[in-house]
Amino acid sequence: MKRNPRFETALIHAGEPQPRIHGAVAIPIFQSATFENRDGDPAGVRYIRYGNTPNHNALNAKLAVLEGGEAAVVTASGMAAISSTLLAVLAPGDHFIAHRNLYGGTHGFVSQDLARLGIECTFVDGDAPSTWEKARRTTTRAFFVETITNPLLEVIDLEAVVRFCRTHAITSVIDNTLATPVNYRPIERGFDIVLHSATKYLNGHSDIVAGAVVGPSKHIAAIREKVARFGGSIDPHTCFLLHRGIKTLALRVRHQNASALAIARFLEEHPAVSRVHYPGLASHPDSARARAWFEGAGGLISFELHGGVSAAERFFARARIPAWAPSLGGVETLMTRPSLTSHSGLSAEERHRLGISDALVRISIGIESTDDIIEDFTASLGGAG
Ligand SMILES: *Cc1c(COP(=O)(O)O)cnc(C)c1O
Repeated sequence: MKRNPRFETALIHAGEPQPRIHGAVAIPIFQSATFENRDGDPAGVRYIRYGNTPNHNALNAKLAVLEGGEAAVVTASGMAAISSTLLAVLAPGDHFIAHRNLYGGTHGFVSQDLARLGIECTFVDGDAPSTWEKARRTTTRAFFVETITNPLLEVIDLEAVVRFCRTHAITSVIDNTLATPVNYRPIERGFDIVLHSATKYLNGHSDIVAGAVVGPSKHIAAIREKVARFGGSIDPHTCFLLHRGIKTLALRVRHQNASALAIARFLEEHPAVSRVHYPGLASHPDSARARAWFEGAGGLISFELHGGVSAAERFFARARIPAWAPSLGGVETLMTRPSLTSHSGLSAEERHRLGISDALVRISIGIESTDDIIEDFTASLGGAG
């Protein structure tokens, strides 16, 4: 009897070419735009934009196993994964529902590009399922949510989303970038389609842009077609880097879970800090959901200082370990102020409505020593109150 390998084993071995190509233990890079097709079989054409070189195929097979889906397609960016998925699932005249707080690029795509194509979205409060029925139309085809929102790290009622979609035969789509399949596997919980910005934790080394979609073969075939036609295809060399990065996903994310929890606890006790947002802390409004549904609460923390914007500026000027840069999920700790980066496109009132103050600091914890980060923050926060 063939046993399914556990997650850590699948990270290393799932999807790898069998037999190994020329015995190569690490998959070689097939940096060839096209491949010989002597018998003229149109279905057998390999071409980078079709996303079917050996590098694409191995990565797709691995990603499908990791997220527990039938099939997967790797893309040139998280936004290519999101745009290709929504354009495959929705047609002009269709309607869909989304949680009101989405990644900025997704929000822009939904509210500007999809709206222009006659695909309307109603933004709802993901924590108020009683209001969703009012948003639903006969043309509602999809419900789009994120596992953990950015930057306040909220966990909406994901179980209610699954129930609502099942009841009304709506396709559920979840952006699992922040949780990763180490902490949460949405398909096991009843979601239809899972997507990622693989730029973040899946690759984990802040050196590529990539994306991925996992789900039922029928949906993935349609999404793959959009990726090939719109040109959101990933290059084999980037596939290789992502493939290499993914193998250490569990080691990295588990370290980041533990380190972020320790640092969040340290920040919560610090007199200069007025508020910490981390779903692994009992003080976070969604901590019970995170405990019930996630293996770990992830590597992102956001917090505010008593001294507001000027205290945040002092902290940024003093902190030595974190790079002052947007993005997240890499091996190095990064710090950013969402009001100046991810949410700078919103007005101050819109940010206020979402609970994002101009003084909010977001940290993406890397894999450095937790003690070094706490020592660095102790020195940087000193006198910041
Ligand atoms: C970064 C990010 C995206 C966009 O991904 P890119 O790889 O930058 O295109 C989408 N969703 C979430 C949650 C992200 O953090």
